[in-house]
Amino acid sequence: MTQSSPLIIGAGPVGLAAASFLSRHGIAARIVDKRTEPSLLSKALGVNPRTLELLESTGLTDKLLALGKKIHGATIHRGDRIVAQVDFEQLEHRFPFLLALSQATTERILREDLAERGIPIERQLELVDSPQLAEGKAELVHTETYERHLAEASWIVAADGAHSIARKSVHVSFPGDTYDRAWVLDDISLATDLDPNRAHIKFVDDGFLFMLPVVTGEEEPGEPTVWRVLGNFPEPLNYLSEANPIGKSLWNSSFHISHRLVEKMNVGNVYFAGDAAHLHSPVGARGMNLGIEDAWVLAELAKRDQLSRYQKLRWPVDNAIVQRIRTFTGFAKGESFFKRMVRNHIAPHLLRLNKVRQTMLHTVSGLDHPLPTWDD
Ligand SMILES: Cc1cc2nc3c(=O)[nH]c(=O)nc-3n(C[C@H](O)[C@H](O)[C@H](O)COP(=O)(O)OP(=O)(O)OC[C@H]3O[C@@H](n4cnc5c(N)ncnc54)[C@H](O)[C@@H]3O)c2cc1C
Repeated sequence: MTQSSPLIIGAGPVGLAAASFLSRHGIAARIVDKRTEPSLLSKALGVNPRTLELLESTGLTDKLLALGKKIHGATIHRGDRIVAQVDFEQLEHRFPFLLALSQATTERILREDLAERGIPIERQLELVDSPQLAEGKAELVHTETYERHLAEASWIVAADGAHSIARKSVHVSFPGDTYDRAWVLDDISLATDLDPNRAHIKFVDDGFLFMLPVVTGEEEPGEPTVWRVLGNFPEPLNYLSEANPIGKSLWNSSFHISHRLVEKMNVGNVYFAGDAAHLHSPVGARGMNLGIEDAWVLAELAKRDQLSRYQKLRWPVDNAIVQRIRTFTGFAKGESFFKRMVRNHIAPHLLRLNKVRQTMLHTVSGLDHPLPTWDD
């Protein structure tokens, strides 16, 4: 039964990756999205080694590598001092780097792959509250004509993002918490001596600043580097002592950070993946990457007619990662006097310990858990 065509709700990176992985197993999915056009926002900037590894069999890793920029490590600053460095070269992996690439470009590569494989993305089709979704009956409404139709599928990938209607339709709770204070990002060209081959984290009294090049793959030689400047407080650009903004922000956004995980990864024939299943801070650069791994696991299980194993295989992994990132984020933003003390005075020393460095590297790279074995 699982071999028949699934319906994928959402053509973000996770829905697209699910369609792409499934098609490699001879399973042609139907994929719908409510948007008229794809999003062009840079959002997730890092494709991690685990994602590069998972996409390798599809041939897409080479395409991403040709467009992205290899980030070789992270430098941690406090005031004008460098207090610690971690290097991805210490990872024993064939992709020992984080690939800087705008989410918009990653999604374009995935869309082009589906187009080449003859899988259309059906746009302007919105999943609305569907009481029989768990039985594979999805109510879709055309966003312009408001025409309704019932799509039936033997199983459904709910990749409809943080505010998932699929999740609400099957009454799955999404426990967790949301920080009160908004985080703010600017994508902006900077005149700076900061090494563009590294991520930079700067601890300040109010929290932290994070800086990473925004790479679209369409940069002209000699163009100033566009950086993502992210802070867990308003006006992060005011905290840049080592860089001067050139011109206006290309994208400025403020958003609230949540750490949440669905209480279960599937209800009946509806399987959650990506932001519909889990949310966490961008510390660790895992959001999109973790979702793509959900999609890969689903496709591998579908191939083996073993979708019933998804909850057991995936919930503990996603849970451990959401919890670990919540802890890291608490320290990074120095949310209590104790955590600020640890962050400012103890963490730089701890990062010299191989075990601590490895934990951090394995979290950011997505290599903090083994991939499932399929024969048990
Ligand atoms: C500012 C910012 C920075 C980020 N930085 C990082 C980072 O550094 N690293 C990282 O890994 N992640 C990062 N993320 C998170 C990353 O962007 C998300 O984890 C990722 O987009 C999740 O992909 P998704 O496909 O699950 O959901 P989405 O990208 O949200 O896609 C969901 C899709 O479903 C469609 N949809 C929604 N509802 C319906 C419906 N009812 N019917 C039909 N279609 C529907 C939407 O139109 C959309 O196309 C960041 C996010 C933000 C906002």
